Amino acid sequence: MSEHSSNHAQKDEQKNDFIRNIIREDVSAQKYQQIVTRFPPEPNGYLHLGHVKSICLNFGVAKEFGGVCNLRFDDTNPTAEKQDYIDNIKNDVKWLGFEWAGEAHHASGYFDQMYAWAVQLIEQGDAYVDLQSPEQIKESRGSFNETGTASPYRDASVEENLKLFNDMKDGKYAEGKAILRAKIDMASPNMNMRDPVIYRVMHQAHHQTGDKWCIYPMYDFAHPLSDALEGITHSLCTLEFEDHRPFYDWAVEKIGFEQPPHQYEFSRLNVDHTMTSKRKLKQLVDENIVSGWDDPRMPTIAGMRRRGYTPEGLRDFCERVGVTKVDSVVDFRLLEFSIRQSLETTTARGMAVLKPLKVTITNFAEAVSSWESQKADSVSARFDDAAQTLWLTQPKHPNVDMGEREIPFTETLYIDQGDYEIEPPAGYKRLSPEKNEIRLRNTYVLAVTEHILDDAGNVIELKATIDPATLGNNPEGRKVKGVIHWVSASQGVPATVRMYEQLFSAEDPSSVADVHQALNPNSLTELEAVVEPSLANAEAGTRFQFEREGYFISDSEEHSGDKPVFNQIVSLRDSYKPA
Ligand code: ATP
Ligand code: MG
Repeated sequence: MSEHSSNHAQKDEQKNDFIRNIIREDVSAQKYQQIVTRFPPEPNGYLHLGHVKSICLNFGVAKEFGGVCNLRFDDTNPTAEKQDYIDNIKNDVKWLGFEWAGEAHHASGYFDQMYAWAVQLIEQGDAYVDLQSPEQIKESRGSFNETGTASPYRDASVEENLKLFNDMKDGKYAEGKAILRAKIDMASPNMNMRDPVIYRVMHQAHHQTGDKWCIYPMYDFAHPLSDALEGITHSLCTLEFEDHRPFYDWAVEKIGFEQPPHQYEFSRLNVDHTMTSKRKLKQLVDENIVSGWDDPRMPTIAGMRRRGYTPEGLRDFCERVGVTKVDSVVDFRLLEFSIRQSLETTTARGMAVLKPLKVTITNFAEAVSSWESQKADSVSARFDDAAQTLWLTQPKHPNVDMGEREIPFTETLYIDQGDYEIEPPAGYKRLSPEKNEIRLRNTYVLAVTEHILDDAGNVIELKATIDPATLGNNPEGRKVKGVIHWVSASQGVPATVRMYEQLFSAEDPSSVADVHQALNPNSLTELEAVVEPSLANAEAGTRFQFEREGYFISDSEEHSGDKPVFNQIVSLRDSYKPA
């Protein structure tokens, strides 16, 4: 990773990335009937933020150029794969807003064909079975400075090789005792061309093909041939596969494809304080460091969904990051910026007090008795006598029509502990013994008359009065500075609110050998908060802006009206601005 880029090109320019430019030329030259791309995950874990970039690119360009994008599971390694991963990957792609062409494909669906092609290569003299030990094979491949040496099996006859390969298929060899290799060039400067393995023995059932096979094609053999078979026109992958391209080209040419796919490589998405590797993320799950693949702190799509990130925000982020061949590390705050932007006009507002401080309004009954005659015209409310509750009607969003909500105002309230300071710091604009008046959002002006301390000197309760003439009005002759949020103590609902920091304190957690050392011990804080009824009553998975606090989502698994649980999505603002 070379530079830490906080500068990002404008969205419009990015549609001119090098891949789109190539496709644009191919389209205008009418090189293909239709553009066909694919997203080819291996089902060995859940998808993560890095995959989002690949998904947005592959599905995005197909759509933009009137083509199609396949979803293909590159499932050539049955030991690490399972159906659960397949189901979740499909779910994640759909959630991001993309549709694949027809049914999902599987490399395993082509195993018969792959086998036939392997036989074809043997017949052409382009592949041979090697019975050397894995150590011998590794050693004879040579190194960067040293050419490889030929296997003693390299020049065996076609008949001999056909028989050995058939024996491999029939289970006559244990794992590691025989492999099929492409016969290319043991002196190639590219190690991938030094007679790479194309089939191996694995006595292992497969999640799609069951016990049918005990030999499996290697990823490098299956991948280009699956692409070719599906008529992929532009095979887009990350830069680490650049060195594999000569072998891919060799394979499709030897098999005889006339218009094989072209592979183009782009740089991986790297984001600071995050990790994009299924294998490493699986370790966090397996060791219960997180609550699962969908822990809201995880950079998996499932985790980000549960966290409340939006598909729109993730797509916007990918557009801003763009597609290049330059390795860089994207500032995490750009992701938060995109998410925040997608929430501004789409989430209802509500009040939640995260660290409650009790306030008793000593003149409540008396002040509220005159509410109807004193309120401003802009205030809409009703009084419930039995419950001694003034229900205030407010729009769910200040300038987007989302309907209305009723907010209960009662004798006992909660405000946030941070909104009252005995010894306020300079510039403090909220309540203190010196500045005792403030506007309670959507209702009256409140004046604190007394604070009550515990033995340790902490404020545990405030006594206050409200000014009856200020329901929607400014007090006569004065301007009250500051507005704070609040929640009724008797009608509000206790809620668990989960506040998040980065899961990793290390800037590049992947570079830390022991992942435990890279973790942020403060990544999760659970608060016992109080929320207004409209928030508690929301369905699971509803996003809100908690006024003055940030964006939150009712947890998709654990939230209920009786026991509300919210996850912090992102803070309200940040000084960070994308360039
Ligand atoms: P992992 O190491 O997390 O398993 P992978 O590359 O092995 O990642 P695949 O399931 O093989 O995972 O990936 C499917 C596609 O997603 C590939 O085309 C791959 O290039 C792409 N991809 C994976 N990680 C990133 C990333 N960080 N940025 C962009 N594309 C990525
Ligand atoms: Mg992988």
